[in-house]
Amino acid sequence: ESNSNLIRATLFPGDGIGPEIAESVRQIFKVAEVPIEWEEHYVGKEIDPRTNSFLTWESLESVRRNKVGLKGPMATPIGKGHRSLNLTLRKELNLYANVRPCYSLPGYKTRYDDVNLITIRENTEGEYSGLEHQVVRGVVESLKIITRQASLRVAEYAFHYAKTHGRERVSAIHKANIMQKTDGLFLKCCREVAEKYPEIKYEEVVIDNCCMMLVKNPALFDVLVMPNLYGDIISDLCAGLIGGLGLTPSCNIGEGGIALAEAVHGSAPDIAGKNLANPTALLLSSVSMLRHLELHDKADRIQDAILKTIAEGKYRTCDLGGTTSTTEFTNAICDHL
Ligand code: NAD
Repeated sequence: ESNSNLIRATLFPGDGIGPEIAESVRQIFKVAEVPIEWEEHYVGKEIDPRTNSFLTWESLESVRRNKVGLKGPMATPIGKGHRSLNLTLRKELNLYANVRPCYSLPGYKTRYDDVNLITIRENTEGEYSGLEHQVVRGVVESLKIITRQASLRVAEYAFHYAKTHGRERVSAIHKANIMQKTDGLFLKCCREVAEKYPEIKYEEVVIDNCCMMLVKNPALFDVLVMPNLYGDIISDLCAGLIGGLGLTPSCNIGEGGIALAEAVHGSAPDIAGKNLANPTALLLSSVSMLRHLELHDKADRIQDAILKTIAEGKYRTCDLGGTTSTTEFTNAICDHL
C-alpha cells in the first residue's frame, strides 16, 4: 500500500556487501523519518533481451519514473552477449555527469586536513565510447570521442553546481597541449559556459600538473570538471586523499533531472556477508540523494550523525583499521540521530 505523502525512490541494493550497506541506509532513513518509499530492484539472473543486460527493463523504468535512486555496488556476471550493468545504466539513463564531493572527515586522520573539493566527470564519451578495433595484426586503434553537446552539458552542470553550492571556482582539467582537437574542444566549451557565470572564477589546469598539485596541496582546488578518463582517475585519487573508497559518495546526473546516487566502491567479495563493510560511502551517497530532493533538513541530520560517529573515533570498520561491524556502526549513527 503506497502512501501519497512519500517520495518514491528506486533502490538497487546490488551485490556482495551491497545488501548489508543498503540495510544500513534503510535503518537510518527509518530512524530519521525520511519520507521516502523505496522501490527495490535486484539484478536479474538472466539477460533481459529488452536491455541486453541482467538489469531488467522494469528496473530502468523505475528510475525513469521516480527520477531518483540509490545504487549499491554491482558485480557484472562474466560471459558473452550482454552489456556491463554500470554501462547499461549509464547509457539507458543517459547519466552524463558523475559528481563526487570529497572532503576531509574530522577525526579520521589522513595526510590532509583541508580537502574540500568536488570532481565532476563527463560520463558518456571520451575514451569510454567503446570504439576499439584492430587495424592490422599488432596494431589496434581506439577512438576518443568528444562532442560539443556533451562537453557543454557537463560544463553547464559544473558551473550551475558551483553557483548553487556556494563554490567560487571551476577548474577544467585537460591535456589540450597534446590532445589538441578533443581536449581543445572540451576546453572551448568550458570557456563558453564560463562566460555566462562571471561570478565564478574559471581556470584550466593540465592533468599531469593537476595530479601534482592535488597530492601537494588539495586545498588549491574547488570544483573540477573533466572528460571521462581523467575523471575516472582523478576522482579515485581524490578519494584516496580523504581515506579511501569506503568513505566517498557519488551521484550520477542524467537526462530529465534523473539523479542516481551510488557508492564508488565495488561489491567487496572478500568481506561480503560478514557484517564488516563500511556503509559510509553509500550513506553519504544517500545524503546527496536527499539534497537532490531538497530534503536538506534530513540530509543535514543524517550527515551530522555520520560525521559525529566518525569523529568520535570509537567505531571504526575494518577498512579504517578497526573491528566495528556494519550493524554496530549503523547503530552508533542511529544513536546520534
Ligand atoms: P572493491 O571496491 O569491491 O574492493 C576493493 C577492496 O576494498 C577490497 O579489499 C574490499 O574489501 C575493500 N572495500 C570496498 N568497499 C568497502 C567498504 N564499503 N567497506 C570496507 N571495505 C571495502 O573492488 P574490486 O575487488 O576491484 O571489485 C569487486 C567487484 O565489484 C567486481 O565484480 C567489480 O566489477 C565490481 N565493481 C562494481 C562497481 C560499481 O558497481 N560501481 C565499482 C567497482 C567495482
